[in-house]
Amino acid sequence: MGQLMLVGLTTQELEKLVEQLGEPKFRGRQIAMWVYRKGATDFGAMTNLPKELRRRLSDVALINPLEVIDVKVSSDGTVKYLSRLHDGETVECVFIPHDKWETICVSTQVGCPIGCKFCASGESYARNLTAGEIVGQVLISKRRESPNIVFMGMGEPLLNFGNLVKALQLLNHEVGIGARRITVSTVGIVQGIRKLAQLKMQVNLAVSLHAPNDELRQMLIPTKLPPLSELINACWEYFRATKRRISFEYVLLKGINDSAKHAFELARLLKGMPCHVNLIPYNHAVSNFERPAEETVRRFHHVLIEQGISATIRHERGSDICGACGQLRRHHLTPSMSLRNGRHQ
Ligand code: SAH
Repeated sequence: MGQLMLVGLTTQELEKLVEQLGEPKFRGRQIAMWVYRKGATDFGAMTNLPKELRRRLSDVALINPLEVIDVKVSSDGTVKYLSRLHDGETVECVFIPHDKWETICVSTQVGCPIGCKFCASGESYARNLTAGEIVGQVLISKRRESPNIVFMGMGEPLLNFGNLVKALQLLNHEVGIGARRITVSTVGIVQGIRKLAQLKMQVNLAVSLHAPNDELRQMLIPTKLPPLSELINACWEYFRATKRRISFEYVLLKGINDSAKHAFELARLLKGMPCHVNLIPYNHAVSNFERPAEETVRRFHHVLIEQGISATIRHERGSDICGACGQLRRHHLTPSMSLRNGRHQ
């Protein structure tokens, strides 16, 4: 079994690969079509390729670096996939169906190094995901041709910048998903926001804020981050470069950041910025926090709207399978789960 993974390679890279195998270049484009557009999961399906080439490819390569080892379906239709990576690490991604569209929530790291106090993903951190491992999550879960993709799974996308950008390019050019359908969510890595702005990719930026002042923010997000003033400047830069309205996520934690005073302070912070606030009532993930009462959530929302800030309350999906915001975590496999019996494609 080879270690080369086709998902993660561009058409040009696939062309080079087939040339190295002594085949004409156009075979690379055919393979890209199978892998990215038709979602082929085994070489046998690639019927317009010569049998001999299919055999040689299967000797040296796997298609998708992810092996799905567990699928959980929520009563609301949300599906959580647990996949095993070649080194035995695991990653989760979530498929969220809506009436007329679908959203796929992908992870960018195994675990997360940030350690937000209320989030299960930060309990341990192992490594960055490769671009192929990120795109692989989309390929195993997508049903429609053009799903919405949110980088809101495990990990901090902007701390894995190179692989994030490569994954965005693959999703855009190879899988054919429009950049405007893609949202990258960050805890507030200012340098990363600036670098992403310079690429002018038209992807949406979401910023996980959770607090309207630096003091409270530092308490909830213990990793040292640039102050809110710099973060807001970077968001403006992103908006000017892309003309995309910025989203802010705000996890509402009972008695901590959910008062009307906090809402007024948040409205002041965001005043004038073309943005939208997603209020996320806390989902049970780690202990010590509670979800505010419905009424508190509504009051917070109301203050923002009255202050002229566009805002909605994000209702959780898939919480019965631990697939909601903040519930994805790094799994440690039991020996039987980590047994890979031969080739999985
Ligand atoms: N690291 C990136 C990507 C993860 S996005 C980021 O922080 O933006 C995941 C979203 O779920 C973030 O907005 C996060 O704050 C939110 N979240 C984390 N734990 C949560 C919880 N227990 N309940 C509700 N939302 C949570």
